Amino acid sequence: MTPQLQQLIDMSRTLADPRDDLVILGEGNTSVRADPDSFWVKASGTELAQADQSTFVRVQFDGILAALNQKSLDDQAVKQALRDATVEGDRSPSIETFLHALCLQLDGIEFVGHTHPTAALSLLSVAQSRELFSGSVFPDQIVLLGASYVYVPYTDPGLPLAHAVQQRLKEFLDRHQRVPRVVLLENHGVIALGGSTQEVINITRMLVKTCRILLGTLAGGGPRFLTPENVDRIDKRPDELARRADLR
Ligand SMILES: [Zn+2]
Repeated sequence: MTPQLQQLIDMSRTLADPRDDLVILGEGNTSVRADPDSFWVKASGTELAQADQSTFVRVQFDGILAALNQKSLDDQAVKQALRDATVEGDRSPSIETFLHALCLQLDGIEFVGHTHPTAALSLLSVAQSRELFSGSVFPDQIVLLGASYVYVPYTDPGLPLAHAVQQRLKEFLDRHQRVPRVVLLENHGVIALGGSTQEVINITRMLVKTCRILLGTLAGGGPRFLTPENVDRIDKRPDELARRADLR
């Protein structure tokens, strides 16, 4: 087994720890870049909590990205594309493989963790959820998660969701000129993007903490966001930049 696959198995089991309430049963999926041409991704019908070598399949970027470039594919064609792109493993790749391929194309992103944390899904199901994620409420939120997120309105899972994420990722990159750490999926869940397994775990945990804090603020009338000056200062402070580098 390659070191990346072992790391992916460990990360998946950590994310599925019931104490953290991030996923149950078959929820969530994870991936790691295997080499320049392919990546390991969770197979459909498997559970992160039971992750082992047989949980993952290796697929080629080319086939997945080519399918993604088609405007629309019927279910049969999607299944065929997933099968054709698989180069290692017996099972069929998760329907969210398209989304993982996109995320792993981003500069510096080696691992991706998609989960459905109860606290995050609560907040992402609030009518005004987009506004609640439009600011930052405490310094460590900014250090770990960055000052802004990719926010994707609810979209049918699979290829349609991957298309929506692709569009929003492009808008984020154009606007912020940096790679996001967090993708928020309305009424669905979250995606943490990291250069290491620890970074994916740290981002996911800090995001869940942020969501709990935001839920707490709703009881008191809603969040008071840090000012853009406050946010900018934390985002660019040399000691915070050093801390961010250490955490990675
Ligand atoms: Zn999901």
